Amino acid sequence: MYTINENYLKLQGSYLFSEIAKRVAAYKEAHPEADVIRLGIGDVTQPIAPAIIEALHKAVDEMGTPEGFRGYGPEQGYEFLRQAIVKNDYLARGCDISPEEIFVSDGAKCDVGNIQEIFGTDNTVAVCDPVYPVYVDTNVMAGRTGQFNPVTGGFDKLIYMPCTAENGFSPKLPEQAPDLIYLCFPNNPTGAAIRKDALQAWVDYANKNGSVILYDAAYEAYISEEGVPHSIYECEGARGCAIEMHSFSKNAGFTGLRLGYTVIPKDLVCNGTSLHSLWERRHGTRYNGAPYIVQRAGEAVYSEAGKAQLRKQVAYYMENARMIRDGLAQAGFTAYGGVNAPYIWLKTPEGMTSWDFFDRLLNEVQVVGTPGSGFGASGEGYFRLTAFGTHENTREAIKRIGRL
Ligand code: PLP
Repeated sequence: MYTINENYLKLQGSYLFSEIAKRVAAYKEAHPEADVIRLGIGDVTQPIAPAIIEALHKAVDEMGTPEGFRGYGPEQGYEFLRQAIVKNDYLARGCDISPEEIFVSDGAKCDVGNIQEIFGTDNTVAVCDPVYPVYVDTNVMAGRTGQFNPVTGGFDKLIYMPCTAENGFSPKLPEQAPDLIYLCFPNNPTGAAIRKDALQAWVDYANKNGSVILYDAAYEAYISEEGVPHSIYECEGARGCAIEMHSFSKNAGFTGLRLGYTVIPKDLVCNGTSLHSLWERRHGTRYNGAPYIVQRAGEAVYSEAGKAQLRKQVAYYMENARMIRDGLAQAGFTAYGGVNAPYIWLKTPEGMTSWDFFDRLLNEVQVVGTPGSGFGASGEGYFRLTAFGTHENTREAIKRIGRL
């Protein structure tokens, strides 16, 4: 008789977004005429930029010709894309990364979820709290945690590093060094960024203790302040302790097209085995790469026209972020983020849980956001709004919140 992976039974289900959908559906059924504005989702809304559409058309046409047809692509991704990534995302920032160290994939979600497979199941794992749920769930599935503990609101054995207003949403270095450390900056959900000296402290800590940092840079394009690193490899010594994941979703609208990449420096060696070689093996066995036409679209992200168009797209969302921050401040809320990230993380009014506040926003002003407690125990008392709406929706939502 076969058995199942019982670790899956520890998972809590996708409570957060299904509960939101349930409450919104119930409200709409009771108020069919209501104009509900969603500022809760993490998906982008602007169409794909013209330079990228042009590259897609060109690549599609190529595939229909005998000389342009491409079959299975190289397992690490096409050289043209890996070269463009290295030139623009690394060499231009003074980071010593080579195209052989880039693995092109079908998105950061897959990579941040799959990367734990190359590590032993006995490793201790640390995550920020609140946290993007994929890091936790995939480690639960792999058996690196105990059961979900309703008292702590987290999984036993997992090391949660609280990120709250008190520590500027930047976790303290744990007293006992974890083996695997997930960091995400700019952060989802808090919108916080990390300064270079603070990130350097993490790199030094990981090198000193033999830990690996799994660095999620999905929101790097939203960084607007000097002194905030776009890549962990801007820190000295990061080649020896860090893996970095990138997405084309939030900077270029590829949430539907699917494209991302992971960097594994060749210096990362564990007891004589290179992590690069393990991930190479993983890609060779269970390829989660992207189609040729999508990789050509990715190349266009780095063209001069593409860069100019995407700067405008990011600026569009960041104008929404500014409207939300200013509007919340005027309405008397304390809010964080929205300067280097498309997320605004606001403090719920005194005495209100994040779900209470969700219900109040939905029922009184028909605005949907995301309760902070859904991202972890330390998210209680906070609420996430996203800048991915249109200007019109965002302006209207903020006007309504001002009436609360
Ligand atoms: N990493 C973080 C922190 C995210 O918030 C998201 C999406 O919301 C992703 C990764 C997923 O990126 P992708 O669309 O490339 O899978």
